[in-house]
Amino acid sequence: MATQVIDEQPPEHYLCLVCRTRPRRDRSRCCGGCFARLRGDLATLRFGYIHLDNEMQALRPAIREGTRHGKSESRPPVRVDLVDVGVAIEENLIGYPEPDDRMGWARGIARWHQPAIAGPAEWSVPVVIRWLLDQALPWISDQQWVWEFADDMAELRRRAYSAAPWQRVRVDLPTPCPGCTFLSLSTYPGDQLAVCRNRGCGRQVPIATMKETRRWTRTIAAA
Ligand SMILES: [Zn+2]
Ligand SMILES: [Zn+2]
Repeated sequence: MATQVIDEQPPEHYLCLVCRTRPRRDRSRCCGGCFARLRGDLATLRFGYIHLDNEMQALRPAIREGTRHGKSESRPPVRVDLVDVGVAIEENLIGYPEPDDRMGWARGIARWHQPAIAGPAEWSVPVVIRWLLDQALPWISDQQWVWEFADDMAELRRRAYSAAPWQRVRVDLPTPCPGCTFLSLSTYPGDQLAVCRNRGCGRQVPIATMKETRRWTRTIAAA
């Protein structure tokens, strides 16, 4: 029986590599809850990066109005903390092309993914995260280093939020999860999947198959 096989294995062979407390789901190295959280962190980071960019754009008119030549005591119209977080996201997630050895996560994933897949259409943070969510996340969640990737994405998300807090991004669906029947399905604007927030479940449901939410998610996508 499968349970006996699990009992005989050391915990590191069947526990989730991210939380190290719950069993892995199927053949993945993550539990359903950690997979759902990683998806959520990436989707929120994508939103947070766009939000940071908007906040910085909003400061630009002050530069055009000639504050560069203002009095020496005038403060620069650039929030260095926002720029720092934006650069940290770009460097950690994307990095630089070879031969530079500071290759970010996504460049590495595009190279290492098995089977080989086409990389993102462009190396910008929103496009790269969309690509990770839509194409690469199942493979990522099966890798030994998934906990490190998950830690980095959660940390970047926290940094972006503390620099420029945003309104709630996650959208909770009014439809019971087909896995656990709780009202615990959530999605993010533009995402193709709804994921169950119940840590013991973590079911993923393609938005396209959810009749009840189709009209409603079109509204989100258009927003
Ligand atoms: Zn876990
Ligand atoms: Zn569920």
